Amino acid sequence: MKSFNFFMPSQIRFGAGRINELSDISPSLGKSCLMVSRPVNGSQKETYAKINGILAKVGVSVVHFDEIVPNPTTEGVENGIKKALNHQVDFVLGVGGGSVMDSAKLIAFLYTKDAKVDWDQAIDQYSNPFAITDKPGSALPFVAVSTTSGTGSQSTQAAVVTDTANKNKVTIFHAALFPSVSIVDPELMLSVPAQVTAATGFDAFTHAFESYLGNLTSPLTESMSLQAIKIVFDYLPKAIADPSDIEARTQLAWADTLAGMCLANGGAQLPHPLGEIIGGICPRVAHGETLAIVYPEFLKYKEPLAQEKFAKVAAYISASDDERPMSDHINELLEKVKLSEALKRSKITKEEHHQITEHPLLNVLQPDNVAQIKSIMSNSLLV
Ligand code: NAD
Repeated sequence: MKSFNFFMPSQIRFGAGRINELSDISPSLGKSCLMVSRPVNGSQKETYAKINGILAKVGVSVVHFDEIVPNPTTEGVENGIKKALNHQVDFVLGVGGGSVMDSAKLIAFLYTKDAKVDWDQAIDQYSNPFAITDKPGSALPFVAVSTTSGTGSQSTQAAVVTDTANKNKVTIFHAALFPSVSIVDPELMLSVPAQVTAATGFDAFTHAFESYLGNLTSPLTESMSLQAIKIVFDYLPKAIADPSDIEARTQLAWADTLAGMCLANGGAQLPHPLGEIIGGICPRVAHGETLAIVYPEFLKYKEPLAQEKFAKVAAYISASDDERPMSDHINELLEKVKLSEALKRSKITKEEHHQITEHPLLNVLQPDNVAQIKSIMSNSLLV
């Protein structure tokens, strides 16, 4: 067996109703928290009210910071740090999808007394996903409550944020960005709309699949990847057809959590930086949709190079008499969950098209293979 690393320091509390356990977890972290979320009166207002009630009963006060946007920004993080400072909170609670969890992670991790973040330094200093280095001395404890099944942020050491001035999505890595505790309660996901369910479910698939294709796998992550991929294929169409199907929501939440651990230990592949280029320039396009845009062209490029792994995954997820290649299964899933329409929905303008296809990152992703990478990107944008 080859050598490998596996690291996962978060306590995961998984299952329907586990949100109530905030009453056990929170008092040991302090008397007041910053709850980070989407707008207070938005589609998750009942979840926020429930959490307020649970924390009030155990004497933990809540300062609500509800300014996070999808494809979250560096300004959002800085404003969150200011609010945390003004109210001198003891810990940070992120309640939402990847956008909220990542912002809350960074608010807790980069919390400083003068509320000013040196982003260039942070991006440079925290760029290695696998380094074990000291965290900033002023970092606050962080608890994640995931409300989508997709990014795996509840089980990764990563936080993605958009530097709006430069239209760049960047990822900050540190072992302390694994949440102290993650609550994964599928009941909180029953309200996720169909299009978000599709985009996030596909994102979970990509984490499991891309880490499986990489060379940092272990026996543990390989079996977790296969399990997560099969769950997405079996349950994503069910959750879209019936959003109230708690079994489908539970299975997808588990696939998401497994896939997050695979991502944390094995990393992603080409579709992720390509998708992030699109998301940085077009922040209206959801992360999972950007992945759906580049996937068909990525598959054409990658399947001939990784035939054995593609075949193993296809054999794991399909019936024994189904001999179609894995790329066919993935393209069929994209059709089934209407992500094959992601490019049309994204309405990328001429100017954005130019910025995407001329993005400087395309020259450094695989320096020996720039023409191929550029053609994957430009072919992905052909309507
Ligand atoms: P999101 O957090 O942006 O949420 C998408 C939409 O769904 C939002 O409008 C949100 O308000 C809504 N929503 C969330 N939960 C809901 C619920 N329970 N009911 C109703 N509506 C709900 O989407 P996401 O895909 O979860 O996160 C995307 C972000 O995560 C991107 O910035 C992406 O780059 C990042 N990401 C992070 C990691 C990581 O390891 N940290 C990995 C992959 C992606």
